[in-house]
Amino acid sequence: MTEKYDVIVIGAGPAGYHAAIRAAQLGLKVVCIDKWINKQGEPAYGGTCLNVGCIPSKALLETTHKFVEASTEFEVLGIQAKGITIDVPTMIARKDKVVQNLTKGVAGLLKSNGVTMLDGAAKLNAARMVEVTLHDGSTQSLEGDNVIIATGSVPVAIPPCPLQEDLIVDSTGALDFQKVPKRLGVIGAGVIGLELGSVWNRLGSEVVVLEALEEFLPMADKQVARETGKLLKSQGMDIRLGTRVTGTEVKKNKVTVTYSNADGEKQETFDQLIVAVGRRPYTENLLSADSGVDLDERGFVYVNDLCSTNAPGVYAVGDVVRGPMLAHKGMEEGVMVAERIAGHKPLVNYDCVPSVIYTHPEVAWVGKTEQELKAAGESFKTGSFPMAASGRAMAANDTAGFIKVIADEHTDRILGIHMVGAHVSEIIAEAVIAMEFESSAEDLGLTMFAHPTLSESLHEAALAVSGHAIHIANSKRNRKK
Ligand code: FAD
Ligand code: NAD
Repeated sequence: MTEKYDVIVIGAGPAGYHAAIRAAQLGLKVVCIDKWINKQGEPAYGGTCLNVGCIPSKALLETTHKFVEASTEFEVLGIQAKGITIDVPTMIARKDKVVQNLTKGVAGLLKSNGVTMLDGAAKLNAARMVEVTLHDGSTQSLEGDNVIIATGSVPVAIPPCPLQEDLIVDSTGALDFQKVPKRLGVIGAGVIGLELGSVWNRLGSEVVVLEALEEFLPMADKQVARETGKLLKSQGMDIRLGTRVTGTEVKKNKVTVTYSNADGEKQETFDQLIVAVGRRPYTENLLSADSGVDLDERGFVYVNDLCSTNAPGVYAVGDVVRGPMLAHKGMEEGVMVAERIAGHKPLVNYDCVPSVIYTHPEVAWVGKTEQELKAAGESFKTGSFPMAASGRAMAANDTAGFIKVIADEHTDRILGIHMVGAHVSEIIAEAVIAMEFESSAEDLGLTMFAHPTLSESLHEAALAVSGHAIHIANSKRNRKK
């Protein structure tokens, strides 16, 4: 028998579960299907983000940051804490507990909103008919007035680096090391390479990051990328740009990587190797030939600005469609589609998607970079404020980095805000709100910020756009009327 639903959601990652919950809140009859089996062998919701992405990586980053603080920074504060050690299995077990609590929390939310959950793999056929193969092997047929595809992404594999248990791993394997590798190789100086490289570097691993591009963090503002590279190198991360990995060999539980750079061919041997060279959209066994859903040339489900596919009544959201592969971008798309199905008219503002890299210090930005604006021939002005001049940063003994506000030369409208510093993953929300409300730098400068906070650095950077920053020496740069 075919069960009918108003909305069928395929995938319970951040994009899918947000769509399902919002649709149910709006009174629609919703079913959500997910095939994830966690490392305890149980079905789990929350997708990549909760199971093997955002949450477990941040749990490890929080633990290891505290470890660095306790072992190297407490002394300067007058705290005597000698002989600090790390118990890696306990760190990993706590991370697993956080993941389990959250995935169970999502299951509870879906249930309490009346969403029907099916644990299994879904395939979309013609006319919004969905065939589900449940984990016990039985099948179920569904028909939806609307279908939302939210099947996410998986790590990219590269031929020179075939995964090998515990030795050559992707981001998922790198969340589960049971001891600190003495020497750790990381392929790719992207977000995952820097975050997971930082985790193990902080625990004493000698980390070498091999990056194909000549430029470090090309998607970030150049000044931010420069400062971040400098700070990570000072922490011991050996980041080698312009390297092309051509092969790996596993011998006696070690991995030898062959790569070439401007100086020719070289080899490095590591105890473990993380391959973090990007993620690709996941659509395996998802679409039957007559589903009517097209993929683009890079394998993403093709959608318009409103996340509609080419098939009537079929939408796609999150990592499986164009745009940054970020949980919050997928969440907003999921909510937008659910509300549109219910007859509302929301939009996602793709100009205001924040990016964060959770290294220490953290890196965050929203809007355009200086190099993008220059390339587009836009005239703009900037104001910057160093964290070293922030009273709160000094009180916290955490003064690296700066905040930069970029505004239109003529209208003063904020075009981009870029930050490196402690807790900028939180401060970026203020920047997003300012940009979402089309604030000028002056508007931000006229807003009262609590003292003493790290956020005041954003206030000062906004004031610095027009030369009114209070805590910057009265130089020529800061002497505009
Ligand atoms: P996913 O989370 O990938 O979920 C897709 C779901 O669909 C999965 O549960 C899968 O089982 C299910 N599925 C797939 N095919 C089928 C099918 N045919 N039938 C049934 N179910 C199916 N993003 C951030 O914004 N911040 C971060 O800090 C961050 N950190 C990250 C750290 C790591 C190590 C990684 C790997 C990623 C990180 N990301 C982060 C990216 C983030 O995880 C993704 O952007 C996000 O999970 C995408 O959400 P999604 O719902 O589109 O897809
Ligand atoms: P990425 O695209 O951020 O970085 C991959 C890096 O690998 C790039 O710098 C690329 O030039 C390099 N590379 C590619 N092929 C290579 C090769 N053969 N040899 C050497 N270097 C190579 O991808 P990622 O770090 O794997 O992350 C995947 C996605 O997950 C990203 O899109 C990111 O948005 C998301 N993510 C987000 C966060 C966050 O928001 N904090 C954290 C982790 C992951």
